Amino acid sequence: MPLTRSQNMARIHGKDTKPEIRVRKALHAKGFRFRVNVRSLSGTPDIVLPKYRTCVFVNGCFWHGHDKCSFYSRPKSNKEFWQDKVKRNKARDELVVAKLSSMGWYCVSVWECELKKAVFENTMEALAATIRGNRERWEQEKARKRQERMQAKERKTLSERRQQELMLKGVSPAIVRLSKEDSEEL
Ligand SMILES: [Zn+2]
Repeated sequence: MPLTRSQNMARIHGKDTKPEIRVRKALHAKGFRFRVNVRSLSGTPDIVLPKYRTCVFVNGCFWHGHDKCSFYSRPKSNKEFWQDKVKRNKARDELVVAKLSSMGWYCVSVWECELKKAVFENTMEALAATIRGNRERWEQEKARKRQERMQAKERKTLSERRQQELMLKGVSPAIVRLSKEDSEEL
């Protein structure tokens, strides 16, 4: 029996959906280890690979408003209602990605239409390559931040040393003079 649109929606939007499970299995087979439905992160990402600093979202094309996608048929009834709903979902998705990115996470969306049998393996290969690439980017980012911290520390030490030198040069003669005057007055 075909599903009604709202049943379909529930299936697509729900957790542990069939597309998600297929992506997980494929990633697992490629040797990736991950956590699923991570509530502690914004948007409860479907798949989180901490070692690669990557969040993967498996998106239903209609529900998440996949642009120029021919995978789903647009509803003819309640058109505005669905359009509005999809628009809000898209806005929320964008906000989630912005939040996670600001925390240094790389976000990858996998669309349902990319999981069709004919293209599934290609999609998984590309996903694996992206995830591995993210690890490199993250390592580079960490190294860059480490270097920045070290440079800041060096700058601080240098400026402290300069201040000390100035104090030694500037303040001590004044103290010397002052103590001289003091002694003359006495
Ligand atoms: Zn699509």
